[in-house]
Amino acid sequence: MTGLIMPQADRFESARLRMVRIQIQDRGISNTQVLDAMKKVPRHQFVPEEYQNEAYNDYPLPIGYGQTISQPYIVAYMTNVVKPGSKMKALEIGTGSGYQAAVLAEIVSQVYTIEIVPELAKESAERLKKLGYKNIKCKFGDGYQGWAEYAPFDIILVTAAAETIPQPLIDQLAENGKLVIPVGKPSSVQELQLVTKRKGRVETKHLTLVRFVPFMRL
Ligand code: SAH
Repeated sequence: MTGLIMPQADRFESARLRMVRIQIQDRGISNTQVLDAMKKVPRHQFVPEEYQNEAYNDYPLPIGYGQTISQPYIVAYMTNVVKPGSKMKALEIGTGSGYQAAVLAEIVSQVYTIEIVPELAKESAERLKKLGYKNIKCKFGDGYQGWAEYAPFDIILVTAAAETIPQPLIDQLAENGKLVIPVGKPSSVQELQLVTKRKGRVETKHLTLVRFVPFMRL
């Protein structure tokens, strides 16, 4: 090939498509919107340079400050289980690298995301802007309080493990809205729970066991 510059994202395209096929589709996720979003978002751009070659592997990776970007399957699983729709508004607690926010933003109309580590909040906001995401609004802060200004949300994803579900998040969930959160002790496995609000009442369903970094407080 001469004189053809491949965009950086393409260097990893086959790894990304393979990841979606083997780690996500073959494990039972068939929602095409979720699969398409995972095929599109350049995960290697969300990890530190030294881990770029591992970005499409089947495990979480460090992103600095003791935090991690979740395993691809977990991101797909959480996105899938809330049944995202194109007109929906989503809130994410724990922006981290910004990857989960980007995957959601490929599907829903607007994503709000909050990160408690100031450096990560800044880096991820810059990254998402550079990648051209115009429907993601980032802020630094303690996600315990949610983001009342933009509530209610059709979807709330919490990507850090809390011992109990923060009440403000339940309050900010729309009617028929879905909240997914790992609940349990920080240093062990946690239970991933799906909370649905119906006629103002919440129903909680146990999904699976997961291991997430701890939910912190300011
Ligand atoms: N969704 C992220 C995964 C991040 S790991 C991604 O796609 O990369 C969880 C993140 O939650 C960490 O960055 C951690 O700093 C953040 N976090 C922990 N407690 C928080 C809180 N109370 N409010 C907001 N963010 C929090």
